[in-house]
Amino acid sequence: MNLVDLHIHTTFSDGALTPEQVVKEAKTAGLEAIAITDHDALEGVISALQIAKNEKIELIPGVELSTLVGEKDIHIIGYYLDLENKNLLQALKKFRDAREKRAAEMVKRLENIGIKISFERILEVANGGALGRPHLAEVLVERGYANSSDEAFRHYLYRGSPIYVSKYHLRPDEAFSLILNAGGIPVFAHPGIEGKDNIIPLFIKQGLKGIEVWHSKHSLQTIQHYLALAQQYGLLITGGSDSHGGKNGNPAPLGAVSVPYYVVEEMKKTVDTQICKL
Ligand code: AMP
Ligand code: ZN
Ligand code: FE
Ligand code: FE
Repeated sequence: MNLVDLHIHTTFSDGALTPEQVVKEAKTAGLEAIAITDHDALEGVISALQIAKNEKIELIPGVELSTLVGEKDIHIIGYYLDLENKNLLQALKKFRDAREKRAAEMVKRLENIGIKISFERILEVANGGALGRPHLAEVLVERGYANSSDEAFRHYLYRGSPIYVSKYHLRPDEAFSLILNAGGIPVFAHPGIEGKDNIIPLFIKQGLKGIEVWHSKHSLQTIQHYLALAQQYGLLITGGSDSHGGKNGNPAPLGAVSVPYYVVEEMKKTVDTQICKL
């Protein structure tokens, strides 16, 4: 069976692999198609276009957006986006700028409790990618304030810690509109992690088109549950490893979950692939 991985992070957000390395690994893993889905950034997709073509791997443009529902951080992925859509590009720039301010504020809070790490070093580590807590964690480890990224999260960066500053969050309906207006397909990412199934009917009214059924943190039972739910609501189904290149809270390697190629075919039937210039 032809397999795909539709949820992959690169160095353009908090993944460990460059877009080129992602394509090479996908080739080695024998995948037919992949989607690069960085947090708040399309640069990973853009950088991988040529090499994916050379390696004959179907590359689907994606992005992972963070929205807030009550207290919950709900992730929405957009697929088949127009990579030149001005509104989307502007919005992503705004989210990344907010991530920088947020990281600077967390650095200040760390300094207040006697932990000195340099904001410039964090920027260096992120290397132009969308800044996140994993980059702070890396510098905390580098400077000896934690033994591992996981420990840095447990001691300082966990949600609710005095150091923690919230990200800029969209409302879910804003995320759906941004994605739809860029010709894309909005998908509820890893719904099994947050457990907010009761919100799905409202999401559908607001523009949701799909649900991530397969995910490295979904059990077999969870997968079956969301397959049934997708069928009930007539939603597209997707899936992926959410690989961060072997780090950042998700050790899943690329291709860690087996997602059949037909989900890509079903998605393609609903979009104008000319829009994303594929
Ligand atoms: P942020 O988007 O800046 O709030 O950071 C969230 C990211 O941190 C997630 O996408 C994970 O990649 C990573 N993460 C979450 N929990 C941990 C953890 N315990 N250890 C390492 N990385 C984590
Ligand atoms: Zn991440
Ligand atoms: Fe996510
Ligand atoms: Fe992700």
